[in-house]
Amino acid sequence: MYDGERLLPEAQRRDFLSGVTWPQVFCVLRIRAKRVGDGKFLALCPFHSERTPSCRFWPKSQRFFCFGCHSTGDMIQFVCRHYDVTEDHFLVAEFFASLPILPLPEQLPLIPLPGRQLALIPEKR
Ligand SMILES: [Zn+2]
Repeated sequence: MYDGERLLPEAQRRDFLSGVTWPQVFCVLRIRAKRVGDGKFLALCPFHSERTPSCRFWPKSQRFFCFGCHSTGDMIQFVCRHYDVTEDHFLVAEFFASLPILPLPEQLPLIPLPGRQLALIPEKR
């Protein structure tokens, strides 16, 4: 179980997390996630080995929780845990500045594609 350290002050966290969506984070970390309704996402947990996705991501609170290993936290904790680093202003600032701009993730289904990018493609009817 992981419930990461929160070393950055609250005001700074809000600053980094302002306007950031999970698909932007998935894109940089190359995580394949699928939408599961209400803007929530589900993915294989990067913090323990599993074959059925049990890591859930909430859009509004910008938090995640793994039902398998009980890892939890916000986006900053997720990113730092992913890189196995402790929260550091410089690293976190660099990561969030590197996020790609994605179009309206809440309106389009997320289609994972091979390679670096996740594509956001309208659903076929
Ligand atoms: Zn897990």
